[in-house]
Amino acid sequence: MTRKPHFKRVALIGIGLINSSLARLIQRDKLADSVISFSRKDETLDEARSLNLSHEYTNDLRVAVHNADLIILGIPVGAISSVAKVIGPALKKGAIVTDVGSVKRSVIEDVSPYMPEGVHLVPGHPVAGTEHSGPSAGFPGLFEGRWCILTPEKDTDNVAIEIIHDFWIHAGMQVDIMDANHHDQVLAITSHLPHLIAYNIVGTAYDLEAVTEREVIKYAAGGFRDFTRIAASDPTMWRDVFLSNREAVLEMLGRFTEDLASLQRAIRWGDGDTLEELFIKTREIRRSLIDAKQV
Ligand code: NAP
Repeated sequence: MTRKPHFKRVALIGIGLINSSLARLIQRDKLADSVISFSRKDETLDEARSLNLSHEYTNDLRVAVHNADLIILGIPVGAISSVAKVIGPALKKGAIVTDVGSVKRSVIEDVSPYMPEGVHLVPGHPVAGTEHSGPSAGFPGLFEGRWCILTPEKDTDNVAIEIIHDFWIHAGMQVDIMDANHHDQVLAITSHLPHLIAYNIVGTAYDLEAVTEREVIKYAAGGFRDFTRIAASDPTMWRDVFLSNREAVLEMLGRFTEDLASLQRAIRWGDGDTLEELFIKTREIRRSLIDAKQV
């Protein structure tokens, strides 16, 4: 049984794509009496203010979390430790701190040491997004039909987990609970590696001397265009993802490189069967994604 969650005061730390989508959802569905947005830069806060995303705006972390019963960290994962250190002493007893970061073990390690007694950390990752950033990029339907993964530790308060679970269900997501290390392994192959490959292939294409930039743009339809969309994702966010999930990404990259080498061999030796067998299998995966409404 899920209940519509309600909070007295929500602090949105960072007001980019994810948190601004949540801000819109919280306002639309009246999930909080008051919402305060934090961002470092005045121009980000001005943009959020012009979109009427919350009741209050601040560039002071302590002011943002004062008296909040829900704090949502929506900033690059590399910035989470320094933010946790500042907000820790200003959190009220009973508050729930959650996050939306794309890596989970590093977030737990970075935040837990600064959480005072009686404050509950429920790490989360809504697996939903676009290549756009900033307050204007958000929309309340972003989470609809997607999965959210929560990675609480064994001693996390069950009521706090349930509240965050219900919050994401209300946002239209399906919720899974798993170990943070497992999350990082799964996401390394389903999200982090595809981004790395996209960044790499787009970089390689632009470096090719024999192919002009004009040709790259003109003939982009042949698969390249899809890679450019992924490779347009926020540079800071993705820098932090790779640095924070180093082990799992390197492991998946190792396997990927081995598999790529076997395709290279098949092409060199004219082994069409190997190529076709793989392409039949991968087409099935695409079909099961469509069946699961994840496309
Ligand atoms: P975004 O649109 O780029 O917004 C990031 C926000 O964080 C902005 O308000 C930015 O404002 C602030 N910020 C940046 N660096 C900061 C720092 N060092 N200290 C404090 N605040 C800082 O980001 P997003 O796409 O919403 O991503 C937020 C989190 O969600 C990330 O951890 C990401 O891994 C995760 N996530 C993203 C997606 C996606 O598709 N984008 C999907 C799922 C999860 P200022 O510039 O004013 O500081």
